[in-house]
Amino acid sequence: MAGRVSEVPPQGSDTGSLTVVGLGPGSQAQRTPEVSAALAAATDVLGYQTYLDLAGPFRPGQRVHASDNREELDRARHALSLAAAGARVVLVSSGDPGVFAMAAAVLEALEHAEDPAWHRVALHILPGVSAAQAAAALAGAPLGHDFCALSLSDNLKPWAEIERRLTLVCEADLVLALYNPRSKARPDQFARALAVIREQRTADTVVVLGRNIARSGEQLEVTTLGKLDPEQVDMRTVVIIGSSRTRRIERPDGGCWVYTPRYY
Ligand code: SAH
Repeated sequence: MAGRVSEVPPQGSDTGSLTVVGLGPGSQAQRTPEVSAALAAATDVLGYQTYLDLAGPFRPGQRVHASDNREELDRARHALSLAAAGARVVLVSSGDPGVFAMAAAVLEALEHAEDPAWHRVALHILPGVSAAQAAAALAGAPLGHDFCALSLSDNLKPWAEIERRLTLVCEADLVLALYNPRSKARPDQFARALAVIREQRTADTVVVLGRNIARSGEQLEVTTLGKLDPEQVDMRTVVIIGSSRTRRIERPDGGCWVYTPRYY
């Protein structure tokens, strides 16, 4: 797919482009070259301020539009309207844009858009390293066999549905990667989720906590379901709960590797 970014129409053409990118978890080293190229070519960059800080620095002349994280659909519409007017727009997400992030919001906005100019926008979605992948790599290979990713945020779906999914996922013995585990607005939900998981998984189940992965303040902790304290978890943490097969092996430095075997 080399050359995709250079296919983006130049500024000033009657229809612009919208490229939805994933920055990876934080560091430049974990950002793909095609995402860096799209950012360099942008006339307009949109995103939540924290992600714009990760995406910069920007060159003079690039217009940077910061927005509040809660207004995802508005941000998607803003990006589409700028692109429809001819701009070369990049919309940034952390991690992968298709994992609990902006790519789905853009497609939702597009599905309901009446302006034909929005439908003519050249749309590209560029993947990134998602938080669970980056944390998993530091820990070893906890996602080495079947796993699922769940967001614990009930901003967009009912809590009862989250609990139902947790129950079914535990029954299926999948490794769980939990995103948006706990926020100031939802301080108790992680504890409620844990209660559901603890009904079905044993106290010695391996748990990996990845906090600020590839960012300053990076912390990786390996613990167990029995010892896990909800206070260890916040919105900058991705939580990986092992399956019954997930195990640890000692490392010579006193630490351990965590992995889930591929066959049994
Ligand atoms: N699109 C992003 C996820 C956005 S949802 C991705 O693919 O990674 C936001 C959640 O992702 C956070 O609450 C946290 O659970 C997780 N997350 C994002 N970046 C992280 C990082 N650098 N370290 C740890 N967790 C992170």
